[in-house]
Amino acid sequence: MNNEKFMVTIFDVGQGDTTLIRNIPNSHSALIDLKCWHSIKPHIMDLGELKVLFITHWHTDHISGISHLLSSIEKNTIDKLPIFINPKFIKNKTANSIKRAIHEALEMGIIKLVPAYSDQDNCDIDMLNAKFKIIWPPYSRFVVDPEKENNNSIVIRFDTKNFKILFGGDAGGEVWQCMNKKCIKANVLKYPHHGAKLSEREGGICASEFLTDVQPNWVIISCSKNNNYDHPSEELKEAEKEYKDIKFLYTFNGNIDINIDGPHTSVGYAI
Ligand SMILES: [Zn+2]
Repeated sequence: MNNEKFMVTIFDVGQGDTTLIRNIPNSHSALIDLKCWHSIKPHIMDLGELKVLFITHWHTDHISGISHLLSSIEKNTIDKLPIFINPKFIKNKTANSIKRAIHEALEMGIIKLVPAYSDQDNCDIDMLNAKFKIIWPPYSRFVVDPEKENNNSIVIRFDTKNFKILFGGDAGGEVWQCMNKKCIKANVLKYPHHGAKLSEREGGICASEFLTDVQPNWVIISCSKNNNYDHPSEELKEAEKEYKDIKFLYTFNGNIDINIDGPHTSVGYAI
């Protein structure tokens, strides 16, 4: 890992998720979820620079920009774009239309689908001179309860030589409780499920315990200011008061940039 310069941008897309990771020397990029293609379009000068797309799960607030992206790729202009996804499909209206767009893109030969499971050989992905590690879900753990579909969400750790970012998707407390604690330690935590309460059941893991496990220096929460879900949760607001040495940043205040330059890192709102 020589090119230790990265810019990670978590976009203000209202209630939803869109993250772009760029290797600065060569502009090779990765996307984790895509709610809004227009937000990121100005940041990708050439679609050939986009090397991988991770879709954490099939909910609208994470995928609604994907049709636009796929329709922007012209045949034979780039190598097949790998899309890592939990292929066990959740049915909803947006997911059905994205699934159709993905099928068309597969037929055109512009993408390839890669099943993303934490217990498969390809769960460590070397790309952009860094590593993407799929740490959830294992193959056997597909959740059929529609109330808990968020627990099918892919959880990704992005590792550079000196720095780790944990992308929690929309995974809930049950996921974090059975996760290997060593795997989830990270410098930056992209907080799961837009800052929602982690556990509904009595005795489940809460925000404060979760932050003790992850030990982040920064926590990033993607949610809109006046959302209908009461995000961020009271438990997260309490944890923010409790952990004075952790910096909390919210996308409703603007795009958030993580600037990694070897051992030096700055995290803050984009100017
Ligand atoms: Zn979501």
